Amino acid sequence: MTGPWTVELWRLAGFVLAGLVLGWLFGALAWTLPLSLLAYIGWQLHQLRRFVNWIRAGRRDDPPDASGVWGDLINEHYRLYMRGRRRKKKIAKLLTRFHEASAAMPDATVILGPRYDIEWFNEAAVRLLELKSPDDVGQRITNLLRHPDFVAYMNGGEYGEPVEFPVSPDSDRRVSARLVPFGNRQFLLSVRDVTRIHRLEQMRRDFVANVSHELRTPLTVITGYLESLAEDAREDPQLAHTYRAMEAQATRMRRTIEDLLALSRLESGDGRPPETRPVSVPAMVAGLAEDARVLGAESGLTVELESDPDLWLQGVESELQSAFSNLVSNAVRYTPPGGRITLRWYADDAGAHFEVRDTGIGIAPRHIPRITERFYRVDSDRSRVSGGTGLGLAIVKHVLQRHDARLKIESRPGEGSRFTCSFPATRILHRPPRSASA
Ligand code: ADP
Repeated sequence: MTGPWTVELWRLAGFVLAGLVLGWLFGALAWTLPLSLLAYIGWQLHQLRRFVNWIRAGRRDDPPDASGVWGDLINEHYRLYMRGRRRKKKIAKLLTRFHEASAAMPDATVILGPRYDIEWFNEAAVRLLELKSPDDVGQRITNLLRHPDFVAYMNGGEYGEPVEFPVSPDSDRRVSARLVPFGNRQFLLSVRDVTRIHRLEQMRRDFVANVSHELRTPLTVITGYLESLAEDAREDPQLAHTYRAMEAQATRMRRTIEDLLALSRLESGDGRPPETRPVSVPAMVAGLAEDARVLGAESGLTVELESDPDLWLQGVESELQSAFSNLVSNAVRYTPPGGRITLRWYADDAGAHFEVRDTGIGIAPRHIPRITERFYRVDSDRSRVSGGTGLGLAIVKHVLQRHDARLKIESRPGEGSRFTCSFPATRILHRPPRSASA
């Protein structure tokens, strides 16, 4: 048995034995035995002092030599201490590498505390967001980046989508920011410079808007001339037919241009409708149902309307009118003679819904995800013949986005389609406001 406790017991036995031998030699056992025990305690205290002194001195020297339980205790302590030091070094190294990696990142990275106070940021944040180290550490990020869109995003609690905003009022630099929660109420804010993309987008929008605008006037003139030429050529049916065909094509071009202009108007600004007002949707859908009856009368379409007369919306009337009329016009154009079109305007727990159902040609499932793209058509010829521009559903999508609404499309080829625009409850006005209904 050579364990530390055995050594310790032998040591105690040694002290007691020395006390006994000395007591036997001098005939004073009553003195020598307590004295030997006292010496043993003194020795233990001496070991303890050496140990404490070594710790106090910062463990810089080698650990004190000791045997028995003390040796074991010192060794175990030293082993744990060295393990902690190695771990600390490893963490420090990792942290340095993390800092180096995030410093090298082109995107600004800011670590925020529970109240959005800045804890750390990288070099890119200094360049992109003009943060200053160490002055800005501890500051709330919303005190430094004050754009209302960013502040609303931070306070909104919905961080799924990034938010885009100009860094400061006097800078043309635009950034896209995204907040990622981690750990215990900590946040990582990642910010990207999107100035170039934004400028290109703006150029594309301006180009489309300008070209459309430039083409509109000459086209209107051409359409006017063609109309009068067709009138004049009444005597010659061949010529009159040619002029009518040209006129129809010019009208189609004009419609496409109008739709392109409508789209670029919707795209300009920050994606929110300019000024919202109470909109009498019941009156709007009644008008649309009437239009559909007139348009569908020739092909014997039945049009039904079911509408909640007290259900109004907060929105932009012209935009909603354009979106809803596109859906109704599609239902009329893609429903063969004798079909049925049903318009519904109602509210439920999820919000308010405008639904256009038809018994028309329907859409194959593979086309559904793409039909709201510009110029995407299932059957180009049919769309053109019926006067479509291929932009109707793109307009619908944009208008709905600007009204926080969603478009749901359900369809079966040969059976019909159902387009539902769903508005959040926050946009519902239950009773016509007095000033607007007056
Ligand atoms: P278009 O002017 O060609 O109708 P839209 O953007 O309005 O363009 O619609 C895109 C395509 O979606 C249409 O070309 C058509 O193929 C399909 N579509 C839209 N509405 C309906 C509907 N009610 N029934 C069947 N197909 C439809």
